Amino acid sequence: MIQEIYPHRFDNSFTLRMAEKTDHVLIYRNDDVLLKDTEQDIIPTFEELGIPAEGADYLYRIDDMFFYTLPPDAFTADKGGISYRDVSVSRTLESFEGFAIITGREIVRFFETRRFCGRCGHSMQHSDRERAMVCENCGQTEYPKISPAIIVAIHDGDDLLMIKSAGRPNSSFHLIAGFVEVGETFEETVKREAMEEVGVKVKNVKYYKSQPWAFSDSVMIGFTAELDGERQEFVIQESEVGEAAWINRKDIPESFNSISIGSEMISNFKHGRS
Ligand SMILES: [Zn+2]
Repeated sequence: MIQEIYPHRFDNSFTLRMAEKTDHVLIYRNDDVLLKDTEQDIIPTFEELGIPAEGADYLYRIDDMFFYTLPPDAFTADKGGISYRDVSVSRTLESFEGFAIITGREIVRFFETRRFCGRCGHSMQHSDRERAMVCENCGQTEYPKISPAIIVAIHDGDDLLMIKSAGRPNSSFHLIAGFVEVGETFEETVKREAMEEVGVKVKNVKYYKSQPWAFSDSVMIGFTAELDGERQEFVIQESEVGEAAWINRKDIPESFNSISIGSEMISNFKHGRS
């Protein structure tokens, strides 16, 4: 999965440390990120971009490397070997840098969308105590947005319940997933999503593991569950689901994408590990 960067170690603890020219800098322009045109070690330092480190906002640390961000107007030079690439490049990188790029994007998206206080409209400032934005007028404090969402592998014997999203008939089959709503436990979300999306009742809901998923400012909470009762016709929620099917283990295609918890759970079922 994309957050599994061992032997590297991600350290998200807050610090007021000032950036130095040899630190790494992630500059995002919407969903593009400024990177070096190399195979590895693609996240540039301030020095490599030829820009000062003053005023950069701290993101996190990986091993002994510190990562910061600056707004896109901090780099306006036309410099060889440096270019903007879509952050989705993270999905194919085989180094810790994929996780670094999307995690930085989530934090920067939080900074960008909390520039003003939602309560009083005053401008917000970076907290000097924690990773937060603070309104000096009314005291409102905002923390990075992390929306919990469940993903569930529903089994019935040797078959796995899989769906395709509405309007995407050429996409591959995936698992049922959905955001946790106000007032729900994760287990209740699993049961509600299965009923809402395909009209299926489930039992034996068991926690599997979780995964930070910065692409949608969320954390995915993985579960397994079993069909409760006899198989019925699916009752499809047409706004969300294009197709649903019970797919036998042996018919599940091998996934070449191992970055998500969903692909890991599908692979587990295919190979009889769950
Ligand atoms: Zn305020």
